[in-house]
Amino acid sequence: MADETIGVVGAGIVGLAVARELTRRRPGTRVVVLEKENRVAAHQTGHNSGVVHAGIYYQPGSLKAKLCTRGGALLREYCEERRLPYQECGKLVVAVSDDDVARMDALAARAGSNMVPGLRRVGPREIGEIEPHATGLAALWSPRTAITDYVRISESFAGDVTAAGGEIRLNFGVDRVRAVTGGLEVGSGPEALTVDRLVVCAGIQSDLVAGLAGDTPVPRIIPFRGEYMRINPEKAGMIRGLIYPVPDPRYPFLGVHFTRRVDGTVEVGPNAVLATAREGYRRADLSLRDLAGIVSYPGMWRMAARHWRTGLHEMRGSVSKKAYMRAARRYVPAIGASDVVRAGSGVRAQALDRDGALVDDFRIHRLGPVTAVRNAPSPAATSSLAIAEHVTDVLLAA
Ligand SMILES: Cc1cc2nc3c(=O)[nH]c(=O)nc-3n(C[C@H](O)[C@H](O)[C@H](O)COP(=O)(O)OP(=O)(O)OC[C@H]3O[C@@H](n4cnc5c(N)ncnc54)[C@H](O)[C@@H]3O)c2cc1C
Repeated sequence: MADETIGVVGAGIVGLAVARELTRRRPGTRVVVLEKENRVAAHQTGHNSGVVHAGIYYQPGSLKAKLCTRGGALLREYCEERRLPYQECGKLVVAVSDDDVARMDALAARAGSNMVPGLRRVGPREIGEIEPHATGLAALWSPRTAITDYVRISESFAGDVTAAGGEIRLNFGVDRVRAVTGGLEVGSGPEALTVDRLVVCAGIQSDLVAGLAGDTPVPRIIPFRGEYMRINPEKAGMIRGLIYPVPDPRYPFLGVHFTRRVDGTVEVGPNAVLATAREGYRRADLSLRDLAGIVSYPGMWRMAARHWRTGLHEMRGSVSKKAYMRAARRYVPAIGASDVVRAGSGVRAQALDRDGALVDDFRIHRLGPVTAVRNAPSPAATSSLAIAEHVTDVLLAA
């Protein structure tokens, strides 16, 4: 007989890592993962860049900085132990203007505080030695940044959960949570499960699911679609690893980058376009319910007033391959619109506060028996094992 039952909503990499950690830390506990899709990793986890970040970008002392460093190290060990793909192909963060150079130097100081292993500043000659087709005035070289396959890692976490006696219930879309004698009833249509505690790791739906469990509606999740292009095979060999721009510090997104995948393909992207559906992977996807939720949120209008220019620029790139590749060509001039094909997209769950501020850090809190992950954007896949430790600490705190 189990000591208690803990439900985890969401079988993305975060929910699965949390469930795995719970089975390890609380062996007598019954852990049940509830997932609305018919497979694990169906949303953000299965539609990302596959990069294991080294911790360059994050505000020192933030949860992102701490959990990315620890999570990256844990993930590396895990991949080695389970023989999952993990390639340290390295990353160049390239400055192509004087403004970029100033921002890059500020980034280098931040990366120093975060103790990013092996990071160093390189000039144009070394840029060419590391990535023969990249150009720039200067760059940060992060040799330990890696690539992996987050779907395979998630499947492996799910295997760990079931091997430890936990359950993964697919096709269980949580549509209600209510207090009952002895715990919380979590329902999906005619099915229901009573749990003692609940962890919400619902990604792009996290504000809605947390709301079902009585949590505050703020911050609201705003969906930002990230579209990718794939470089044609005859030119894919021109990119050895990862080539990133210096990010604009006003945004939590890293900018369109060149990404080698573990299967040998190379992609350019993702951009960041406001989506009209939470799970809107195509430009034409529209959910009236989601759209109404977006436009009725005061934070949305405050954000739009601040960032409409960038929004328009991103939309232009979304519609025109040429416009999309114009930005990318500043880093690798030899790859243009005719060298790429459209290659799918992912939708980022980005939390937005009521004042219009994009929530930068991970946001995780507890409300009685419910622990909610309310903002887990990039680098949450990299950090997943460390987020799981943190969530478990929050959940088990007196
Ligand atoms: C385009 C893109 C590129 C990225 N690149 C990187 C990268 O290179 N490196 C990195 O570290 N991070 C990256 N990220 C971020 C990373 O993918 C996410 O932070 C991470 O996958 C979040 O995991 P999650 O489990 O919280 O969310 P998800 O993977 O979205 O999982 C949430 C799950 O909850 C389920 N769910 C939702 N509602 C319900 C409900 N009512 N009932 C039951 N289940 C429900 C969903 O079906 C889903 O399976 C990227 C993200 C995107 C979108």
